Amino acid sequence: QARDGHQPEFGQAAYEVLESLEPALARRPEYLRSGVLERLCEPERQIIFRVPWIDDAGAVKVNRGFRVEFNSALGPYKGGLRFHPSVNIGVIKFLGFEQIFKNALTGLPLGGGKGGSDFDPKGRSDAEIMRFCQSFMTELHRHLGEHTDVPAGDIGVGRREIGYLFGQYKRITNRYESGVLTGKGLDWGGSQVRTEATGYGTVYFVEQMLRARGDRFDGRRVVVSGAGNVAIHAARKAEELGATVVAMSDSEGYVVDEAGIDVEAVQELKEVRAGRIKEYAEGHDRAEFVEAGSIWDVPCAIALPCATQNELDDEAALALVRNGVVAVGEGANMPTTPAAVKIFLDAGVAFGPGKAANAGGVATSGLEMQQNASRDSWSFEDTDARLSKIMADIHNGCRATAEDHGAPGNLVLGANVAGFTRVADTMLDLGVI
Ligand code: NDP
Repeated sequence: QARDGHQPEFGQAAYEVLESLEPALARRPEYLRSGVLERLCEPERQIIFRVPWIDDAGAVKVNRGFRVEFNSALGPYKGGLRFHPSVNIGVIKFLGFEQIFKNALTGLPLGGGKGGSDFDPKGRSDAEIMRFCQSFMTELHRHLGEHTDVPAGDIGVGRREIGYLFGQYKRITNRYESGVLTGKGLDWGGSQVRTEATGYGTVYFVEQMLRARGDRFDGRRVVVSGAGNVAIHAARKAEELGATVVAMSDSEGYVVDEAGIDVEAVQELKEVRAGRIKEYAEGHDRAEFVEAGSIWDVPCAIALPCATQNELDDEAALALVRNGVVAVGEGANMPTTPAAVKIFLDAGVAFGPGKAANAGGVATSGLEMQQNASRDSWSFEDTDARLSKIMADIHNGCRATAEDHGAPGNLVLGANVAGFTRVADTMLDLGVI
């Protein structure tokens, strides 16, 4: 850490993983002798670049672009791009670090990376977004390739942005290299279920956690934070399984609807009208918009944090436990603070950490790459069935690993040790590189 200055999110993510590896390191001292931990914590390559672009008023703007190519032991670097004003190198390093283990858990041949920019897409016109994406890719393209580094979406980067990025990549390289980006549109190399995959996958994972304790979604109250890609599809799948989603949010506040949120209406509001969650309450009499306060004060049996890092702290965890929460599944990356995770584990709440619970997105990106490589496209049902099986396998693998290392039911430990073991064993095989 000392050589990098202040990178609190990366420090938090690295500490959380390293702390839970103790039982694995005790069993396999060669991990320590071979410097695997030191090598894992140092990205293979970090790229920081200028992104100049011109806004609609003709003014020149300059943002900063990032790509951290963290670890390629298992395959090409793979991980999303985030466009949000809070992005800096420490945030991208935390996300890239998590991505290494998440990708390992999917069982697919994917290394770990992450990227993005401090560009704020909010309020920008479509033409501004396009010019920004083109400038971003003009620099980034030289580092990418279907066998080298394959970005996807994240906060602020969806199908539209992936389209502009792919268009510029194709234009600069003069190659129709479908496998260089995932999250593409269905007409140009995208996969069925990729849009839904992270949210659906989180719910499939939580379904497994509930099943392990004889419980299920049907008839349960669910709170989902966020109203973006992950939140909307997690809420839709939870609804489909018979649960009632009683609250959703965005960065301005949350809406509560005791009779159940109309998730389709939220999706239309966010995806078609680019509206704010408070507008939902304006069109639904029973719903109430709460501007200040915590969404985690709304009583529920199942909590799905699907917005951003550190959005669920110890106070929120205590409120959830007091209100009888039985399961928490992280749709977002590291949304739960370490103190809050401890509260859930101590209280016997089933807790699904993001690197396992939200791995469905990258897993389906892996399936998109497989389809691109074979110039094939699979049906929605086939792809969804594969996603569901991958999530069940990840859950069972984490559970078995936790048990094997003397921590039954602790899926945080199970995910960290299982992901680490696959990457570390490969790094040992490949030598000191
Ligand atoms: P979106 O941009 O589609 O949605 C993000 C949502 O979170 C929005 O409702 C946004 O509200 C809210 N949000 C973002 N930042 C903040 C903040 N600082 N405070 C409060 N709310 C905030 O992103 P995604 O749904 O794709 O991503 C959500 C989370 O899931 C992230 O942690 C991401 O890393 C993770 N993830 C995403 C995957 C994917 O496939 N997309 C894969 C795996 C993990 P507002 O509009 O007001 O900003």
